[in-house]
Amino acid sequence: MRREGLPERVWSAPGRVNLIGDHTDYNDGFALPFALPLRTVVRARPCTDGVIHARSAGHEDVTFAPPGQPGDVAGWGSYVAGVAWALQQSGLDTPGADLTISSAVPVGAGLSSSHSLECAVALALCGLAGLEPDRTELARIIQRAENDYVGAPTGLLDQMAVLHSVPDHLSFFDARALSVEPVPAGLADQGLVLLVIDTNAPHQHVDGAYAERRQACEEAARRLGVVALRDVEDVAAALTELGDDVVMRRARYVLGENARVLQSVDLVRAGRLAEVGPVLTQSHEAARTDFENTVPEVDVAVQSAVSAGALGARMTGGGFGGAVIALVESTRVPQVEAAVTQAFTEHGFTAATFLPVTPARGAGTGE
Ligand code: ADP
Ligand code: MG
Repeated sequence: MRREGLPERVWSAPGRVNLIGDHTDYNDGFALPFALPLRTVVRARPCTDGVIHARSAGHEDVTFAPPGQPGDVAGWGSYVAGVAWALQQSGLDTPGADLTISSAVPVGAGLSSSHSLECAVALALCGLAGLEPDRTELARIIQRAENDYVGAPTGLLDQMAVLHSVPDHLSFFDARALSVEPVPAGLADQGLVLLVIDTNAPHQHVDGAYAERRQACEEAARRLGVVALRDVEDVAAALTELGDDVVMRRARYVLGENARVLQSVDLVRAGRLAEVGPVLTQSHEAARTDFENTVPEVDVAVQSAVSAGALGARMTGGGFGGAVIALVESTRVPQVEAAVTQAFTEHGFTAATFLPVTPARGAGTGE
């Protein structure tokens, strides 16, 4: 129910694109995401009855009394209830609230609509309570919501990117240090465009597959006697030790991906963003063959974009569908889009959607 007498306040949070470095966060590794210029907006009023009412177009309204416990609220509402629960578990006493949510972030495309929603809700609930928790602390709280309430075993990359990104910068994320360092992207100076290609192949059976990948990485670390794959120093020796099985291939992807992120950061810092292109394509190839989290739609999008002159491309996000990020010279964008469209038609896929993007601001007040 609305509380018309109380003033409405607005918070919002972006979706995120991971330029490179997926499935590295839960291995204490590195990633290079940035904030999408598409946001989830939460209009919020405090409610004196202590109850949270939330609505989002196309979804059933949810009403619950926090903190409750995991399982009380299912479906989309679990993201909202999970955040309220995790905040209270962390001693942050947030009030009842009336939340109206609207979002331009594509759902299930690997662009993190869920963390965009959770971060916007968390800032709104904290804001209504007059609380301003440290953003890295807030990222941990949101991870708890997603892991323990929603039941998705995700890492910290998405929330950190959503909460810490700044415009026109890539966010160099170190999952062990839990730090984000903004690196100027220099896109316009170098005549380059970051093109999001949403394949519109929604990710499917993600939870089980994600958990399997995570377990394989933990198994590799255990066999190698390290805390996390981040700690492997001699990659060649480690891969030999792991032998020739699926755990070795999962580890080979993660170890390679960490190195590719560091290489990319060095190139971006040196003003050589164009040279990140081939690194993106190598990352995709490793995901396709070793981590096996791609699907035909993303493979075709990457291959046709690169054949049409993109400097490089890779699936972004957890995988099993979703979006591709391509690095393209601005003059070549039309031919890359045309090539992907044609390839999708030939394969009988649902048409892809194209979105040239510039790194945007992170979560905050206002729309
Ligand atoms: P993504 O890669 O987009 O984060 P997830 O499967 O992790 O994909 O999260 C998608 C889920 O998040 C949706 O099924 C829905 O439950 C929830 N969600 C995201 N955005 C919204 C929104 N604007 N309104 C309601 N639910 C949303
Ligand atoms: Mg998500």
